[in-house]
Amino acid sequence: MGSIRSKSLAEILAEAGLSPSEKAVDKPELADILDTPIDYIPSTEPDSEPEDIVYIELPAGEIDPRLKLLSHSSRTLLHKCPRKYQLYRLSSDKVELEDPVKDMEQSLTFAYGHAVGEGIASVLEGKTEAQIVLELFLNWNVDLLDENSRQKKSFWLAVFAVQRLLRMYNEGFLSDYELVQYEGKPAIELGFQIKLPGGYTYRGFVDAVLQHKTTGEIMTLEAKTSSSIAQPAMYKNSGQALGYSVVLDILFPEMSSYTVLYLVYETKSYEYKELPFTKSLLQRALWLQELIIDTQLIKLYESYGTSYPMHGENCYDFFRECEYLGLCTLQTEKFVKPLTQSILDDIEKDEDKYQFYVTFDDLVSSQIKKGTNDAV
Ligand code: SF4
Repeated sequence: MGSIRSKSLAEILAEAGLSPSEKAVDKPELADILDTPIDYIPSTEPDSEPEDIVYIELPAGEIDPRLKLLSHSSRTLLHKCPRKYQLYRLSSDKVELEDPVKDMEQSLTFAYGHAVGEGIASVLEGKTEAQIVLELFLNWNVDLLDENSRQKKSFWLAVFAVQRLLRMYNEGFLSDYELVQYEGKPAIELGFQIKLPGGYTYRGFVDAVLQHKTTGEIMTLEAKTSSSIAQPAMYKNSGQALGYSVVLDILFPEMSSYTVLYLVYETKSYEYKELPFTKSLLQRALWLQELIIDTQLIKLYESYGTSYPMHGENCYDFFRECEYLGLCTLQTEKFVKPLTQSILDDIEKDEDKYQFYVTFDDLVSSQIKKGTNDAV
């Protein structure tokens, strides 16, 4: 943003090619107004030099840092089609967890899912209906009238989904549980990152951490929406919830297993489905191993040249063609946005979003310790 400047109204009019009429200048009260300095912030600094773009040249064999930012969403993409993962990542100057949204339908799906998830968290936090609806409105970032009638998704239907949960909550849903407090705040949307060997990072957010009021049982809640009937197999072996153990390790160091409640809102039946799964130490050990395998896969793909493998069986997915269909056979260089210092700065800045930070070695040590304690 530019710094505050000051000019008289007469100067501003003159710069715009407009001069006040002589009659106006003759009137003393108008002349005063024309001479009064007005503070303003120019949208651009006219006399400042344009910011220099600093391009980063990576040493031979070094992998672009954008390819080393892993999350549940990016790993899913890597497994579906490594070529798409490569093109998505390298054509982006963003470092977000989710992959870039390419069209209206995807944007709406993303905004809808985000609104329902945010609304569910707000219900658990005890916010009022008016507060929740206002927040949903303020955070809705696509057109308010966008609608996907096939999948029953729109802003108003997101509000309806949250109101439905609010009613269930007021009637006693989850009343045996309370939100865990972390640093004096409810444990909602807790961000974590795991530093993996080779400069890779895995990042994620836990929707909510709850504790049973009498048994003390810990349960993490994962809010989902589904435009089909929610089946347990859709979530049972998903690695997403295993990452949550990182947060739980810090909040509850002695705990060796926990429950993940997938609370899935079915957009077509307008119903919530509860799908609880228990996660064990063994599952976490396997998940950690898979994370390392993914980093090694990326390294392997890189070693073969510029084009990652194309999994053509996924060119048509979720009722739509991949946006790279017909393009992904072209040279990678045609899509790549050059790596700049500003991208590296964004990656560094992004780290501030995550409250929990742990290294892979710390996780392995905690895993061994817990395993030893369990065996005793
Ligand atoms: S069109 Fe198919 S092969 Fe090409 S990037 Fe997309 S999913 Fe992969």
